[in-house]
Amino acid sequence: MTGFEIRGHCPGALRPMASADGLVVRIRPPLGVLTPAQARGLAPAAQRFGSAVLELTSRANLQIRGVPEAAHPALIAALSDLGLIDPDPATERARNLVVTPFHRDGDGTANLGRALTEVMLSAPPLPAKFGVALDCGTAPVLGATPADIRIERDGTGALLLRPDGLNHGRAVLPEEAPDALRALLDWFAHHGVGEDGRGRMRDAAAGLCGYDTLPAPAEVPPGAGPAHGGMLVAVPFGQMPAETLAALADAADELRLTPWRALFLPGVTCASALPEAQGKPGLITDPDDPLLRTHACTGAPGCPQAHAETRPLARALAAHLRPGQQLHVSGCAKGCAHPAPADLTITAGPEGYALARNARAGDPPHRNGLDARALTSLLHGTDDATPL
Ligand code: SF4
Repeated sequence: MTGFEIRGHCPGALRPMASADGLVVRIRPPLGVLTPAQARGLAPAAQRFGSAVLELTSRANLQIRGVPEAAHPALIAALSDLGLIDPDPATERARNLVVTPFHRDGDGTANLGRALTEVMLSAPPLPAKFGVALDCGTAPVLGATPADIRIERDGTGALLLRPDGLNHGRAVLPEEAPDALRALLDWFAHHGVGEDGRGRMRDAAAGLCGYDTLPAPAEVPPGAGPAHGGMLVAVPFGQMPAETLAALADAADELRLTPWRALFLPGVTCASALPEAQGKPGLITDPDDPLLRTHACTGAPGCPQAHAETRPLARALAAHLRPGQQLHVSGCAKGCAHPAPADLTITAGPEGYALARNARAGDPPHRNGLDARALTSLLHGTDDATPL
């Protein structure tokens, strides 16, 4: 154990974040890939040492919540036996690489990901949240995933190194990409990191020269269902019972983490192969499922800043959404689950829930002081005075 992170920093497994319901232990499987054996081993570890719920994060990591401090060393030992623990917190923090889940065997992505990881581990100290996206499928799909440097493709299929904040990149051969990344990391360490150790590439990239190739148009990632020769299996709010992960391990040769509250199972093209058919509810493979358009943070009682619970309300209201309508339920004005505006945003406050349209959490509301029943009436359309 090396200490706990405070909220706002970038927690890991060796430096977990303290939360109201215990420690949050964030696991970064190498290249975002879990083997079936690792998935089967994670489930009992989460059940024994945590709250038995696993969370998928927006940076394609996996979290175990509700870990008592006293249980942390034993959990780390169990995860280490599964090959999921780095040798030290510095390595864990530097290995901040998100990889497109849609790579194929033999397309070079895994080798390139390993080479880029080595470069990141040997780079000068960088800000805690500094990250790289390896997005080298046929079209970029990680455009909405935060990253300071992207490796993606141009319109001709050539590999492109693109600093965040620039609309252009620099074409590189796959064998050149690690050295090109190293040079960019060195430049950023000298020009982009402040005395406080913070900084983002998007704020420094205007000082870069020699980036002039346009990236390929980004693809909107599919929310759930068959995609790219496999199956995107989403889970509501990115949370699943640990036993569900173990059951999914029986369905595929690999489980790839994505930043979209979903796992990608390469080679699985039929939903009937999934354990939902065997009695594990909660998996989403229908791209029109309204829960895919519903965001909700931890809320009460897990977050001490929450004024009310969020996910049970969001789940109940999702059934009343119109096609395409997006809902965000936030436990406070911070809006952790969805920083962008949503069609309908419900923010809990001391006076009850506030409802705003086309707004972020905490924006001036359309209606205030609402309870769950009033919200249901509004979304269901039975409140004729203010139809939504
Ligand atoms: S939005 Fe507020 S209540 Fe929800 S997790 Fe963030 S801080 Fe907690």
